[in-house]
Amino acid sequence: MPVKNRFAELLPEIVGWRHDIHANPELLFEVHRTAAKVAGLLREFGCDQVVTGVGRTGVVGVIKGKCDSSGRVIGLRADMDALPIHEGTGVAYASTTPGRMHACGHDGHTSMLLGAAKYLAETRNFDGTAVVIFQPAEEGGGGGREMCADGLMTRFGVQEVYGMHNMPGIPVGHFAIRPGAMMAAADQFEITVTGKGGHAAKPHDCIDTTVVAAHIIVALQTIASRGVDPLKQVVVSVCTVATDSPAHNVIPQVVVMKGTARTMDPAVQDFVERRVAEIASGTAAALGARATVDYQRGYPVTVNAPANTAFAAAVAQAVSGQVDTDTPPLMGAEDFSFMLNERPGAYIFLGNGDTAMVHHPAYNFDDAAIPFGASWYAGMVESRMPSP
Ligand SMILES: [Zn+2]
Ligand SMILES: [Zn+2]
Repeated sequence: MPVKNRFAELLPEIVGWRHDIHANPELLFEVHRTAAKVAGLLREFGCDQVVTGVGRTGVVGVIKGKCDSSGRVIGLRADMDALPIHEGTGVAYASTTPGRMHACGHDGHTSMLLGAAKYLAETRNFDGTAVVIFQPAEEGGGGGREMCADGLMTRFGVQEVYGMHNMPGIPVGHFAIRPGAMMAAADQFEITVTGKGGHAAKPHDCIDTTVVAAHIIVALQTIASRGVDPLKQVVVSVCTVATDSPAHNVIPQVVVMKGTARTMDPAVQDFVERRVAEIASGTAAALGARATVDYQRGYPVTVNAPANTAFAAAVAQAVSGQVDTDTPPLMGAEDFSFMLNERPGAYIFLGNGDTAMVHHPAYNFDDAAIPFGASWYAGMVESRMPSP
């Protein structure tokens, strides 16, 4: 099962969808135009069912195979949202909305899954049901979580679910995957330090919140360096420090720090949450100040089930013969994790070649990757539910 010939024929059409979506980027849950286009195309392809508004602006298409003796239902997922970045690609089909662009390739993911849906609806050469899932708000809004909360898995009977993301730095046509943790959990925290503000020339009359904040930032580094097994991955970054005074001669009353914590293991995640609170409040108390911590759990760890990973890798191998099955995990996070927490499945990287990294203004999805990605989506259905 190499790249399907049908996708060579469909390529100009799929590229057309991609460029149209690229020129009209939408953010988070506000993907109304994109979702309407997706739903319209799925209806045009003759999907057995097309449901909109799943998880606010998500779209689901159901395609039944020639027969259904297997009783199997496989979910394939793509994301539809763009990023608040000013596009710097200079391509003819660049964003028409200043300050927004498809800088993560979700335009490519959506178009490849549309291509696979068109092919599957034409051929129906499988025994079971394919559910194509188009989610909003992958870039921080939790669209995958919203679709799951809206009954995605139970309403459509999804038994397994597969996702794909392009990855710069991996050659076009190559795939990369690993069993187990593939992407990190991403939590965020906000630490508020309250002391006693005053004149900068009279520090002895104050409780200097900037000094307390500096001690907290340094002490937080011991979570990774002294607290967690060096063989386990953890990142704790303080990214924003804001005082309540812009002056050069005022000791601020309050300092607010914001940061992120990335982990690959639930026990490490629990440890980090506890230690951020203990270190902030303990350090502040030692220096006569007070610290409160608001710690919010974000996207969970993206965990590939071993059997489904082997299956996804085998289909990728059949498509291009180029699969890295032991790709290193990334400390970025992925909203598809919510779907993988509900059903077994796998998430695979598709090479985007030597391009700028995702989330960079010069990044662009490579249309040459489309036949590989679309063949993988379709191959997952045909191989997992072979027609008798
Ligand atoms: Zn992204
Ligand atoms: Zn992305």
